[in-house]
Amino acid sequence: MKAEHYVGGVFRSDGPTFPLIAPADGTGLGEVPEATREVVDDAVTAARAALAGPWGRTSAEERAAALRRIADGVQARFEEFVDAEVADTGKPRELAATIDVPRAVGNFRAYADLLYGRPERAYTTQVPGWSGGSGQALNYSVRRPLGVVAVISPWNLPLLLLTWKVAPALAAGNAVVAKPSEETPSTATLLARVIAEAGLPDGVFNLVHGHGAGAAGEFLTAHPGVDAIAFTGESATGAAIMRNAADHVTPVSFELGGKNPALVFADADLDAAVEGTVRSSFTHSGQICLCTERVYVARPLYEEFVERLGARARALTGYGPMISAEHRDKVLSYYRLAREEGATVVAGGGTPEFGDARDGGYHVEPTVLTGLPETARTVREEIFGPVCHVAPFDTEDEALRLANDSPYGLAATVWTRDVSRAHRVAPRVEAGIVWVNCWNLRDLRTPFGGVKASGIGREGGEYSLDFFSEPVNVCIQI
Ligand code: NAD
Repeated sequence: MKAEHYVGGVFRSDGPTFPLIAPADGTGLGEVPEATREVVDDAVTAARAALAGPWGRTSAEERAAALRRIADGVQARFEEFVDAEVADTGKPRELAATIDVPRAVGNFRAYADLLYGRPERAYTTQVPGWSGGSGQALNYSVRRPLGVVAVISPWNLPLLLLTWKVAPALAAGNAVVAKPSEETPSTATLLARVIAEAGLPDGVFNLVHGHGAGAAGEFLTAHPGVDAIAFTGESATGAAIMRNAADHVTPVSFELGGKNPALVFADADLDAAVEGTVRSSFTHSGQICLCTERVYVARPLYEEFVERLGARARALTGYGPMISAEHRDKVLSYYRLAREEGATVVAGGGTPEFGDARDGGYHVEPTVLTGLPETARTVREEIFGPVCHVAPFDTEDEALRLANDSPYGLAATVWTRDVSRAHRVAPRVEAGIVWVNCWNLRDLRTPFGGVKASGIGREGGEYSLDFFSEPVNVCIQI
């Protein structure tokens, strides 16, 4: 899949390029165009022009129909999308075919449904009556799109997280300029093809490729022509984007990093807790923002839990690589740091040897650590790899204190068979999402996001439509 910009309805790949490397085996996948400031300017101008055209006057029904055509288009090219996602990320094919691509289709369908389902909530509310003593008045409010929306997405779930923002942004009537991660340009380019085929007016969806700081990402998020920024990525990147956004008071929606805890209480179903933690720590080799990196286990279960989790981690096969050599080196540097900080390495801790082409790729071993103090950097900082640290606790209050002692607050998992405990503990965990006896079970209508350094705002269902549109009140004196 050749990566191209899509600007004002035209595919182009002018300007400098950079190489795309397959993380599964280190081979080259081709060259990616790096958007210059001029390309980004063109994209923002094209988006602004699209808003002034027919797209700016579409009805909710027309936009819902457009979203359905996009969903159908992605579905029709399902295998192409899976191939592209697997090539760029190295993730197991099964993951791309059961999560990434189906969810992208689901994102467009969900927002199409929402536009039909509750148009009165999303687009108009009427409040006739009171006018503060000066006769009668009719007030009504209309939700208006924000305008040109910049969407910046990461490499871990490239198509899923891009469409999670693009679908509601278009549903609400905005024009979009999207920049996917420089590591994963391919499914975004395919999406642009699908959107072109779906017949959206030129400039409604624009795509620029390139790097972040000092490059396309920064040109876009600092652009005075951008009316809102929806970003998913690292907390430090969010802070940098926020500084640029401050110059124009541009609204932001941020989904950022995490250091997610799991709490395993003494009354938990141990089999379920071990298997759940294998999934929550090692799915996509830990490269999901919701993955567990800190596990706190009630002391009576601690020894057996550690032994079983370690055995399961050592037995894992078929896992994918880190996204890049740079990210592999970062994860391995934390494995080294953990040892320096005094960790016991229960499982993993290095790089695997496969004896095949994968040895040219960027794999690291699923790793289980114990024995670190809570102050250790390995326990405090987001690693974003297949690794968790397991520590014991004695009381419910202590478990909550440990879980909440973090600058992050994205997701948490609670394992208990005590219904009262589940309801008591879940709301006290400082996180945007708390799963009880499960992990990553998602209903797309529910609020999704983080607290503390893990984000600003909520996505999902109407929460996304609320961000991507603003109510304008109209007051008419009768
Ligand atoms: P990243 O912050 O390095 O990059 C994300 C995107 O931002 C990329 O497109 C990048 O090019 C761009 N970017 C980088 N610097 C920029 C700048 N100064 N200005 C504008 N754009 C810039 O993140 P990543 O390494 O791609 O993704 C991993 C991170 O994303 C992890 O921290 C993970 O927890 C987080 N994440 C969070 C969620 C969530 O929903 N909360 C979901 C997935 C990933």
